[in-house]
Amino acid sequence: MIIVMREDASRAQIDHVFDKVRELGYKTHPIYGEQRTVIGAIGDERGKFRLKGLESVPGVESVIPILKPYKLVGSELKKDKTIVRVGENVAFGSDRFVIIAGPCSVESREQIIATAEQVKKAGATVLRGGAFKPRTSPYSFQGLEEEGLELLAEAREKTGLPIVTEIITPQDIPLVARYTDILQIGARNMQNYALLKQVGLLDKPVLLKRGLSATIDEFLMSAEYVVSQGNPNVILCERGIRTFETATRNTLDLSAVPLVKRMSHLPIIVDPSHGTGVSALVGAMTKASAACGADGAIIEVHIDPENALSDGEQSLNPEQFAELVKGLKPILRAEGKRL
Ligand code: PEP
Ligand code: MN
Repeated sequence: MIIVMREDASRAQIDHVFDKVRELGYKTHPIYGEQRTVIGAIGDERGKFRLKGLESVPGVESVIPILKPYKLVGSELKKDKTIVRVGENVAFGSDRFVIIAGPCSVESREQIIATAEQVKKAGATVLRGGAFKPRTSPYSFQGLEEEGLELLAEAREKTGLPIVTEIITPQDIPLVARYTDILQIGARNMQNYALLKQVGLLDKPVLLKRGLSATIDEFLMSAEYVVSQGNPNVILCERGIRTFETATRNTLDLSAVPLVKRMSHLPIIVDPSHGTGVSALVGAMTKASAACGADGAIIEVHIDPENALSDGEQSLNPEQFAELVKGLKPILRAEGKRL
């Protein structure tokens, strides 16, 4: 249920409603808007009628049921868009199109530092790189783990770029959170609820990728897991889904972008690298992402794609990446966005 306070409700009246809602056994999630305060009451649906009684309390305008199962990430409860800030220069969900770039996996000091320097020069504002890799085969390269995190931190030190890296198990959270600026939950873990709950307890932004076969509702429910634990800083990422088509690695569902923007206030970016699996398609799909309203893109860039330890076939080299960013600018201008 949502408790909508009157515009002229006093602080004391709002606090009183908080107390009442908690007394009734519900968790409160306040949203302080410019005009008024709205309180989300999260808990057992069966006790709804008792909350309805709050309509007689001074300062309360109305108590209304939430129709969608995702109460906190849906746009019903919060109309203004969430902006997720990382450091001084990065704001997902603003008028900036945030470009995250870097290799699929961190492989060596030379590789990550050279890539970081080059993507920064071309216009990226966040560095990506996997240290713990969820690979389909147990015999594939699994990542450098802590050494990879150290190398990412070194690249951040050198370039000033904040970093995003994947976390694949709750046990690794203290370690990964110590190094990274944004925690990535990969497609394969989108419904790993134990992991979602744990990252929900942190105050670091979470980049949540859509599962390989997840519906939009399931995707938003996973975001709800994180936000309901207290962490509002979720960035969604459309990265392609499994369909009957095998000519591309996945089918990049760009309609998810404007749809999610209608359904949720969270920012959403696109991963055209995993979305297509083909480096030659990455530029076109990044432009399409900008044109359909995405808040950014995450792009795999490798100094030597041919010899990459993972996902070389979908990685751009730094020159191709610089070319892509150049070609993106007129589209961003037309959309009223900038890098
Ligand atoms: C990745 O970004 O390196 C990755 C493994 O992506 P996804 O989880 O989308 O497959
Ligand atoms: Mn990859």
